Amino acid sequence: MYKNPYECLRSSSGKWLKGNFHTHAGTGPGTCGSLGLEEVIYAYKQSGYNVLTISNHDLFTPTEQYGSGIRLIPGVEYSANPHMLTIGVRQHWGKGHQETIDLTRESGGFAVLCHPNWIKREYWPREEVDKLTGYTGIEVINWLIYRLEGSGLACDLWDHLLSRGKLVYGFGNDDFHLWCDLARSFTVIYADSDEWSDIKEAIDRGSFYASTGVALKNFSLEDNVIAIKAGFFIDSYVEDFTYRFIGEGGSVLAEERGSAASYALKGDEMYVRVEVTAENGAMLFTQPVYRDELFRKP
Ligand SMILES: [Zn+2]
Ligand SMILES: [Zn+2]
Repeated sequence: MYKNPYECLRSSSGKWLKGNFHTHAGTGPGTCGSLGLEEVIYAYKQSGYNVLTISNHDLFTPTEQYGSGIRLIPGVEYSANPHMLTIGVRQHWGKGHQETIDLTRESGGFAVLCHPNWIKREYWPREEVDKLTGYTGIEVINWLIYRLEGSGLACDLWDHLLSRGKLVYGFGNDDFHLWCDLARSFTVIYADSDEWSDIKEAIDRGSFYASTGVALKNFSLEDNVIAIKAGFFIDSYVEDFTYRFIGEGGSVLAEERGSAASYALKGDEMYVRVEVTAENGAMLFTQPVYRDELFRKP
């Protein structure tokens, strides 16, 4: 049976929250987080964000005093190579990768593997990722990398993991260091409220997507047909988007152009995820619809 991570859209009790879980700020001149906490949080609020994590390198940064009008979730970027986000935690343990993921989960948080193709393909080596357990997802898009080195996209690793039956979710993050990094790639979450417990529940069931500027207007799975409609985050007369349905091994199962698209599952697809591209190159990455019996969380 196929599972739709956006099944919850049927109940209208939730709302979409724009989030960024990867932000460096407040650590002083000459560091990655050289800009001030207050001004960075203010800028995210003004840019329409609902959820933000200040995730400095191996350092928990308290932000309670800045939280009005935006949900600030604690977190740390674990920065022994390769990097990982530990979200919902208030400490850096200084342990190894696996132990840190385990401690993050025990603390009620979740872990995300960062910029998997920074500097070179497989900054996060596949053999290493294959051995890890307990993480929630990977940064499928991290825009900072496009002014550093390598690639900010990681669909190759994502399809590698999905094709092995690992239910790994795709996140979009700015990895904010400087103003030019603001609001470039983000995670949009469908949750009952902006309380941490509701956000965590939405993350656990995969009802969120990664985006660089395309909004998910509708997503359904009925009678084995995936139907999707995208748009911009603003009101726009533009209705023309390109939809790509992607399956096992990253193969393109179908491509459609128009205001909406659909894909009829044949039954032999292990999973199908959708990428949408807009006229300006902005993209949206949905989580996969997947055959329940073939998948397990890593
Ligand atoms: Zn990093
Ligand atoms: Zn970072």
